[in-house]
Amino acid sequence: MQYNDLGTTGLSVSALGFGSMRLPMTNIGDMNFVDLDQAVELMQYAFDSGINYVDCGFQYGNMQAEIAVGRALRGRRDQVILTGKATKTRMANQGDMRRMIEHQLQRLQVDHFDFYGFHGVGWDTLYSIDEKTGWIDQMHRARDEGLFKRMCFSFHDEPSSIRKLVDLGWFDMITCQYNYLDRRNQEGMAYAAEKGLGVCVMGPVGGGRLSMLPPPVQERLGMDDAEAVSLALRFVLANPSVSCALSGMSSRDMVDHNAAVVDRGPLDDKEYQDLERLLAELDQLADLYCTGCEYCMPCPHHVSISRRFQLMNQHRVWGCTRQAREAYQRLLARDAEGECQECGECLPKCPQNIDIIEQLKETHAVLG
Ligand code: SF4
Ligand code: SF4
Repeated sequence: MQYNDLGTTGLSVSALGFGSMRLPMTNIGDMNFVDLDQAVELMQYAFDSGINYVDCGFQYGNMQAEIAVGRALRGRRDQVILTGKATKTRMANQGDMRRMIEHQLQRLQVDHFDFYGFHGVGWDTLYSIDEKTGWIDQMHRARDEGLFKRMCFSFHDEPSSIRKLVDLGWFDMITCQYNYLDRRNQEGMAYAAEKGLGVCVMGPVGGGRLSMLPPPVQERLGMDDAEAVSLALRFVLANPSVSCALSGMSSRDMVDHNAAVVDRGPLDDKEYQDLERLLAELDQLADLYCTGCEYCMPCPHHVSISRRFQLMNQHRVWGCTRQAREAYQRLLARDAEGECQECGECLPKCPQNIDIIEQLKETHAVLG
Protein backbone atom coordinates (compact mmCIF):
# COMPACT_ATOMS: atom_id res chain seq x y z
CA MET A 1 0.00 0.00 0.00
CA GLN A 2 1.16 3.49 -0.84
CA TYR A 3 0.90 6.10 1.94
CA ASN A 4 0.78 9.88 1.58
CA ASP A 5 1.03 12.85 3.90
CA LEU A 6 -2.45 13.99 4.83
CA GLY A 7 -1.73 17.67 4.25
CA THR A 8 0.30 19.11 7.10
CA THR A 9 -1.56 17.18 9.80
CA GLY A 10 1.45 14.92 10.38
CA LEU A 11 -0.73 11.91 9.58
CA SER A 12 0.20 9.35 6.96
CA VAL A 13 -2.83 8.09 5.06
CA SER A 14 -3.22 5.11 2.75
CA ALA A 15 -3.65 6.24 -0.86
CA LEU A 16 -6.78 4.07 -0.93
CA GLY A 17 -9.45 4.98 1.62
CA PHE A 18 -12.50 2.95 2.59
CA GLY A 19 -15.83 4.66 1.89
CA SER A 20 -18.57 3.04 3.97
CA MET A 21 -21.50 3.92 1.70
CA ARG A 22 -21.61 0.60 -0.20
CA LEU A 23 -21.24 -2.03 2.50
CA PRO A 24 -22.72 -5.48 1.84
CA MET A 25 -26.48 -5.38 2.41
CA THR A 26 -29.08 -8.01 3.14
CA ASN A 27 -32.87 -8.05 2.65
CA ILE A 28 -35.24 -8.81 5.47
CA GLY A 29 -38.79 -8.65 4.15
CA ASP A 30 -38.81 -5.63 1.89
CA MET A 31 -36.20 -3.76 3.93
CA ASN A 32 -32.47 -3.43 3.25
CA PHE A 33 -30.02 -3.73 6.11
CA VAL A 34 -26.25 -3.70 6.32
CA ASP A 35 -25.05 -7.26 6.66
CA LEU A 36 -23.11 -6.55 9.83
CA ASP A 37 -21.06 -9.75 9.91
CA GLN A 38 -19.99 -9.43 6.28
CA ALA A 39 -19.40 -5.69 6.52
CA VAL A 40 -17.24 -5.96 9.64
CA GLU A 41 -15.24 -8.82 8.16
CA LEU A 42 -14.76 -6.86 4.92
CA MET A 43 -13.54 -3.71 6.65
CA GLN A 44 -11.18 -5.64 8.87
CA TYR A 45 -9.83 -7.34 5.76
CA ALA A 46 -9.31 -3.89 4.20
CA PHE A 47 -7.51 -2.66 7.32
CA ASP A 48 -5.32 -5.78 7.29
CA SER A 49 -4.54 -4.99 3.63
CA GLY A 50 -3.07 -1.65 4.67
CA ILE A 51 -6.03 0.72 4.35
CA ASN A 52 -5.95 3.08 7.32
CA TYR A 53 -8.72 5.55 6.48
CA VAL A 54 -12.47 5.09 6.78
CA ASP A 55 -15.08 7.67 5.79
CA CYS A 56 -18.49 7.55 7.51
CA GLY A 57 -21.78 9.29 6.84
CA PHE A 58 -24.88 9.30 9.02
CA GLN A 59 -27.15 8.06 6.23
CA TYR A 60 -24.82 5.51 4.66
CA GLY A 61 -26.03 1.92 4.57
CA ASN A 62 -29.61 2.81 5.39
CA MET A 63 -28.28 4.56 8.49
CA GLN A 64 -26.46 1.47 9.77
CA ALA A 65 -22.98 1.86 8.29
CA GLU A 66 -21.66 3.62 11.38
CA ILE A 67 -22.63 0.67 13.56
CA ALA A 68 -20.64 -1.65 11.27
CA VAL A 69 -17.65 0.71 11.15
CA GLY A 70 -17.62 0.92 14.96
CA ARG A 71 -17.55 -2.86 15.26
CA ALA A 72 -14.81 -3.15 12.64
CA LEU A 73 -12.69 -0.67 14.59
CA ARG A 74 -12.83 -2.60 17.86
CA GLY A 75 -9.30 -3.31 19.03
CA ARG A 76 -7.74 -1.19 16.27
CA ARG A 77 -9.20 2.27 16.79
CA ASP A 78 -5.76 3.88 17.07
CA GLN A 79 -4.63 2.33 13.75
CA VAL A 80 -7.34 3.83 11.56
CA ILE A 81 -8.16 7.45 10.71
CA LEU A 82 -11.91 7.88 11.25
CA THR A 83 -13.87 10.65 9.53
CA GLY A 84 -17.50 11.55 10.17
CA LYS A 85 -19.81 14.25 8.91
CA ALA A 86 -22.80 16.31 10.00
CA THR A 87 -25.54 15.75 7.43
CA LYS A 88 -26.97 19.04 6.20
CA THR A 89 -30.37 17.54 5.36
CA ARG A 90 -30.78 16.64 9.04
CA MET A 91 -30.04 20.14 10.30
CA ALA A 92 -33.27 21.99 11.07
CA ASN A 93 -33.03 23.37 14.60
CA GLN A 94 -30.53 24.82 17.05
CA GLY A 95 -28.51 22.02 18.62
CA ASP A 96 -29.03 19.48 15.82
CA MET A 97 -25.33 19.32 14.96
CA ARG A 98 -24.37 18.57 18.57
CA ARG A 99 -27.07 15.93 18.89
CA MET A 100 -25.93 14.32 15.66
CA ILE A 101 -22.28 13.97 16.60
CA GLU A 102 -23.12 12.59 20.04
CA HIS A 103 -25.46 10.07 18.42
CA GLN A 104 -22.83 9.08 15.85
CA LEU A 105 -20.14 8.55 18.49
CA GLN A 106 -22.58 6.39 20.38
CA ARG A 107 -23.39 4.32 17.29
CA LEU A 108 -19.70 3.93 16.54
CA GLN A 109 -18.87 3.20 20.20
CA VAL A 110 -15.85 5.51 20.06
CA ASP A 111 -15.08 8.64 22.07
CA HIS A 112 -13.86 10.84 19.21
CA PHE A 113 -13.51 11.22 15.45
CA ASP A 114 -10.11 12.02 13.95
CA PHE A 115 -11.84 14.28 11.44
CA TYR A 116 -15.38 15.60 11.53
CA GLY A 117 -17.04 18.15 9.35
CA PHE A 118 -19.79 19.57 7.22
CA HIS A 119 -21.25 17.08 4.73
CA GLY A 120 -21.72 18.19 1.13
CA VAL A 121 -21.55 21.94 1.67
CA GLY A 122 -20.69 24.98 -0.38
CA TRP A 123 -20.24 28.55 0.73
CA ASP A 124 -23.96 29.43 0.69
CA THR A 125 -25.23 26.22 2.28
CA LEU A 126 -22.68 26.44 5.09
CA TYR A 127 -24.09 29.80 6.13
CA SER A 128 -27.76 29.32 5.27
CA ILE A 129 -27.87 26.23 7.51
CA ASP A 130 -25.96 28.09 10.19
CA GLU A 131 -28.64 30.80 10.29
CA LYS A 132 -31.25 28.19 11.28
CA THR A 133 -29.15 25.89 13.43
CA GLY A 134 -25.95 27.57 14.64
CA TRP A 135 -23.98 24.54 13.42
CA ILE A 136 -20.73 26.45 12.86
CA ASP A 137 -20.41 27.45 16.51
CA GLN A 138 -21.46 23.96 17.64
CA MET A 139 -18.83 22.44 15.35
CA HIS A 140 -16.07 24.55 16.89
CA ARG A 141 -17.25 23.76 20.41
CA ALA A 142 -17.37 20.03 19.71
CA ARG A 143 -13.76 20.17 18.52
CA ASP A 144 -12.69 22.21 21.56
CA GLU A 145 -14.33 19.62 23.81
CA GLY A 146 -12.47 16.75 22.09
CA LEU A 147 -15.37 15.09 20.25
CA PHE A 148 -13.15 15.25 17.19
CA LYS A 149 -9.58 16.32 16.54
CA ARG A 150 -9.61 18.11 13.19
CA MET A 151 -12.28 19.82 11.13
CA CYS A 152 -13.07 19.04 7.52
CA PHE A 153 -15.76 19.49 4.90
CA SER A 154 -17.01 17.57 1.92
CA PHE A 155 -17.74 19.82 -0.98
CA HIS A 156 -20.62 20.24 -3.44
CA ASP A 157 -20.63 23.68 -4.98
CA GLU A 158 -19.14 25.87 -7.64
CA PRO A 159 -15.39 25.07 -7.76
CA SER A 160 -14.54 28.69 -6.93
CA SER A 161 -16.07 28.26 -3.47
CA ILE A 162 -13.29 25.88 -2.40
CA ARG A 163 -10.89 28.81 -2.13
CA LYS A 164 -13.30 30.78 0.08
CA LEU A 165 -13.91 27.82 2.38
CA VAL A 166 -10.20 27.05 2.67
CA ASP A 167 -9.50 30.71 3.51
CA LEU A 168 -11.76 30.48 6.56
CA GLY A 169 -8.73 28.81 8.12
CA TRP A 170 -10.79 26.25 10.10
CA PHE A 171 -10.17 23.16 8.04
CA ASP A 172 -7.50 20.46 7.93
CA MET A 173 -9.00 18.42 5.12
CA ILE A 174 -11.34 18.64 2.15
CA THR A 175 -13.18 15.78 0.46
CA CYS A 176 -14.40 16.51 -3.05
CA GLN A 177 -15.41 14.97 -6.34
CA TYR A 178 -12.62 14.38 -8.84
CA ASN A 179 -12.03 11.95 -11.66
CA TYR A 180 -10.73 12.10 -15.19
CA LEU A 181 -14.06 13.14 -16.62
CA ASP A 182 -14.77 15.69 -13.90
CA ARG A 183 -11.73 17.83 -13.13
CA ARG A 184 -13.59 20.99 -12.20
CA ASN A 185 -12.26 20.95 -8.63
CA GLN A 186 -8.64 20.51 -9.69
CA GLU A 187 -7.60 24.11 -9.11
CA GLY A 188 -9.38 24.32 -5.76
CA MET A 189 -7.76 21.05 -4.67
CA ALA A 190 -4.33 22.45 -5.53
CA TYR A 191 -5.11 25.58 -3.50
CA ALA A 192 -6.25 23.50 -0.53
CA ALA A 193 -3.11 21.36 -0.68
CA GLU A 194 -0.91 24.46 -0.93
CA LYS A 195 -2.58 25.75 2.26
CA GLY A 196 -1.75 22.49 4.05
CA LEU A 197 -5.11 20.71 3.89
CA GLY A 198 -5.30 17.02 3.18
CA VAL A 199 -7.26 16.29 -0.02
CA CYS A 200 -9.47 13.20 -0.19
CA VAL A 201 -11.17 12.38 -3.45
CA MET A 202 -14.65 10.89 -3.68
CA GLY A 203 -15.91 9.37 -6.88
CA PRO A 204 -12.49 8.54 -8.38
CA VAL A 205 -14.28 6.04 -10.62
CA GLY A 206 -17.23 8.39 -11.19
CA GLY A 207 -19.60 6.37 -9.00
CA GLY A 208 -18.87 3.30 -11.15
CA ARG A 209 -19.34 5.11 -14.48
CA LEU A 210 -15.64 4.84 -15.29
CA SER A 211 -15.58 1.12 -14.65
CA MET A 212 -16.13 0.91 -18.41
CA LEU A 213 -13.85 2.85 -20.72
CA PRO A 214 -15.42 5.46 -22.97
CA PRO A 215 -14.87 4.22 -26.55
CA PRO A 216 -12.52 7.11 -27.42
CA VAL A 217 -10.30 6.27 -24.44
CA GLN A 218 -10.38 2.60 -25.40
CA GLU A 219 -9.40 3.35 -28.99
CA ARG A 220 -6.78 6.02 -28.39
CA LEU A 221 -5.01 4.39 -25.45
CA GLY A 222 -5.42 0.84 -26.72
CA MET A 223 -6.95 -0.35 -23.46
CA ASP A 224 -9.90 -2.58 -22.66
CA ASP A 225 -12.45 -2.42 -19.87
CA ALA A 226 -10.34 -4.64 -17.62
CA GLU A 227 -8.06 -1.62 -17.16
CA ALA A 228 -10.82 0.94 -16.65
CA VAL A 229 -10.80 1.13 -12.85
CA SER A 230 -7.03 1.05 -12.80
CA LEU A 231 -6.80 3.99 -15.22
CA ALA A 232 -9.33 6.01 -13.20
CA LEU A 233 -7.66 5.42 -9.83
CA ARG A 234 -4.12 5.88 -11.10
CA PHE A 235 -5.14 9.15 -12.77
CA VAL A 236 -6.48 10.52 -9.47
CA LEU A 237 -3.40 9.41 -7.55
CA ALA A 238 -1.10 11.03 -10.13
CA ASN A 239 -2.39 14.42 -8.98
CA PRO A 240 0.16 15.62 -6.38
CA SER A 241 -2.58 17.42 -4.42
CA VAL A 242 -4.38 14.16 -3.66
CA SER A 243 -3.71 12.41 -0.37
CA CYS A 244 -6.29 9.65 -0.60
CA ALA A 245 -8.82 8.27 -3.09
CA LEU A 246 -11.98 6.95 -1.45
CA SER A 247 -13.65 3.87 -2.78
CA GLY A 248 -16.96 2.46 -1.59
CA MET A 249 -15.99 -1.21 -1.55
CA SER A 250 -18.45 -4.04 -1.04
CA SER A 251 -16.34 -7.18 -1.51
CA ARG A 252 -12.90 -8.61 -0.86
CA ASP A 253 -12.35 -8.72 -4.61
CA MET A 254 -12.82 -4.97 -4.84
CA VAL A 255 -10.40 -4.43 -1.95
CA ASP A 256 -7.81 -6.72 -3.57
CA HIS A 257 -8.24 -5.16 -6.99
CA ASN A 258 -8.05 -1.56 -5.78
CA ALA A 259 -5.12 -2.29 -3.47
CA ALA A 260 -3.24 -3.91 -6.37
CA VAL A 261 -3.93 -0.85 -8.54
CA VAL A 262 -2.56 1.45 -5.85
CA ASP A 263 0.51 -0.78 -5.56
CA ARG A 264 1.19 -0.15 -9.28
CA GLY A 265 1.54 3.52 -8.42
CA PRO A 266 0.07 6.57 -10.16
CA LEU A 267 0.14 7.06 -13.94
CA ASP A 268 3.65 7.87 -15.12
CA ASP A 269 4.37 11.11 -17.00
CA LYS A 270 3.77 9.67 -20.47
CA GLU A 271 0.57 7.87 -19.49
CA TYR A 272 -0.68 11.03 -17.81
CA GLN A 273 0.10 13.29 -20.75
CA ASP A 274 -1.50 10.91 -23.28
CA LEU A 275 -4.65 10.88 -21.21
CA GLU A 276 -4.59 14.65 -20.64
CA ARG A 277 -4.43 15.30 -24.38
CA LEU A 278 -7.35 13.01 -24.99
CA LEU A 279 -9.35 14.50 -22.12
CA ALA A 280 -9.11 17.94 -23.64
CA GLU A 281 -10.93 16.47 -26.65
CA LEU A 282 -13.39 14.57 -24.47
CA ASP A 283 -14.34 17.52 -22.31
CA GLN A 284 -17.29 18.30 -24.51
CA LEU A 285 -18.72 14.86 -23.70
CA ALA A 286 -18.95 15.70 -20.03
CA ASP A 287 -21.14 18.78 -20.45
CA LEU A 288 -23.95 16.88 -18.86
CA TYR A 289 -22.29 15.36 -15.85
CA CYS A 290 -24.91 14.21 -13.43
CA THR A 291 -23.31 12.51 -10.43
CA GLY A 292 -26.51 10.68 -9.52
CA CYS A 293 -26.55 12.31 -6.06
CA GLU A 294 -30.35 12.66 -6.28
CA TYR A 295 -30.47 15.87 -4.28
CA CYS A 296 -32.96 17.05 -6.93
CA MET A 297 -35.36 14.24 -6.04
CA PRO A 298 -38.19 13.64 -5.50
CA CYS A 299 -39.71 15.49 -8.42
CA PRO A 300 -43.32 16.46 -7.58
CA HIS A 301 -44.29 15.23 -11.05
CA HIS A 302 -42.50 11.90 -10.70
CA VAL A 303 -39.73 12.41 -13.24
CA SER A 304 -36.76 10.08 -12.60
CA ILE A 305 -34.28 12.88 -13.22
CA SER A 306 -31.03 11.17 -12.31
CA ARG A 307 -31.96 7.92 -14.06
CA ARG A 308 -32.72 9.80 -17.29
CA PHE A 309 -29.37 11.60 -17.08
CA GLN A 310 -27.57 8.38 -16.30
CA LEU A 311 -28.94 6.96 -19.55
CA MET A 312 -27.96 10.11 -21.43
CA ASN A 313 -24.41 9.70 -20.14
CA GLN A 314 -24.40 6.09 -21.25
CA HIS A 315 -25.04 7.38 -24.75
CA ARG A 316 -22.94 10.49 -24.65
CA VAL A 317 -19.85 9.44 -22.76
CA TRP A 318 -19.76 5.69 -23.27
CA GLY A 319 -21.27 5.50 -26.73
CA CYS A 320 -23.75 2.82 -25.53
CA THR A 321 -26.63 4.41 -27.46
CA ARG A 322 -28.74 1.35 -28.28
CA GLN A 323 -28.80 0.13 -24.67
CA ALA A 324 -29.55 3.63 -23.42
CA ARG A 325 -32.49 4.06 -25.83
CA GLU A 326 -33.99 0.70 -24.87
CA ALA A 327 -33.68 1.45 -21.16
CA TYR A 328 -35.16 4.91 -21.69
CA GLN A 329 -38.21 3.42 -23.41
CA ARG A 330 -38.69 0.99 -20.52
CA LEU A 331 -38.44 3.89 -18.08
CA LEU A 332 -41.07 5.96 -19.90
CA ALA A 333 -43.39 2.95 -20.05
CA ARG A 334 -43.55 2.67 -16.27
CA ASP A 335 -46.87 3.80 -14.76
CA ALA A 336 -45.08 5.76 -12.10
CA GLU A 337 -42.97 7.81 -14.51
CA GLY A 338 -44.20 11.38 -15.06
CA GLU A 339 -43.46 14.25 -17.41
CA CYS A 340 -41.54 17.40 -16.60
CA GLN A 341 -43.94 20.31 -16.02
CA GLU A 342 -41.06 22.81 -15.88
CA CYS A 343 -42.00 23.90 -12.36
CA GLY A 344 -38.32 24.57 -11.58
CA GLU A 345 -38.42 23.02 -8.09
CA CYS A 346 -35.42 20.81 -8.80
CA LEU A 347 -33.12 23.51 -10.20
CA PRO A 348 -31.71 25.09 -7.00
CA LYS A 349 -31.14 21.64 -5.46
CA CYS A 350 -28.58 20.47 -8.02
CA PRO A 351 -25.01 20.92 -6.69
CA GLN A 352 -23.70 20.57 -10.26
CA ASN A 353 -25.94 23.45 -11.39
CA ILE A 354 -27.27 21.34 -14.23
CA ASP A 355 -30.03 23.05 -16.19
CA ILE A 356 -32.29 20.09 -15.52
CA ILE A 357 -35.26 21.25 -17.58
CA GLU A 358 -33.19 21.85 -20.73
CA GLN A 359 -31.17 18.67 -20.27
CA LEU A 360 -34.34 16.61 -19.84
CA LYS A 361 -35.55 17.97 -23.17
CA GLU A 362 -32.25 17.16 -24.84
CA THR A 363 -32.22 13.68 -23.30
CA HIS A 364 -35.69 13.03 -24.66
CA ALA A 365 -34.74 14.33 -28.10
CA VAL A 366 -31.82 11.91 -28.27
CA LEU A 367 -33.18 8.82 -26.49
CA GLY A 368 -36.96 9.22 -26.76
S1 SF4 B 1 -38.74 21.15 -13.34
FE1 SF4 B 1 -39.45 19.19 -14.16
S2 SF4 B 1 -38.03 17.68 -13.34
FE2 SF4 B 1 -37.75 19.55 -12.13
S3 SF4 B 1 -39.08 19.24 -10.34
FE3 SF4 B 1 -40.29 20.38 -11.90
S4 SF4 B 1 -41.36 18.78 -13.06
FE4 SF4 B 1 -39.72 17.76 -11.91
S1 SF4 C 1 -29.41 16.42 -11.72
FE1 SF4 C 1 -28.07 17.33 -10.20
S2 SF4 C 1 -29.07 16.97 -8.22
FE2 SF4 C 1 -30.05 15.64 -9.72
S3 SF4 C 1 -28.95 13.68 -9.50
FE3 SF4 C 1 -27.93 14.84 -11.15
S4 SF4 C 1 -26.28 15.95 -10.15
FE4 SF4 C 1 -27.64 15.26 -8.52
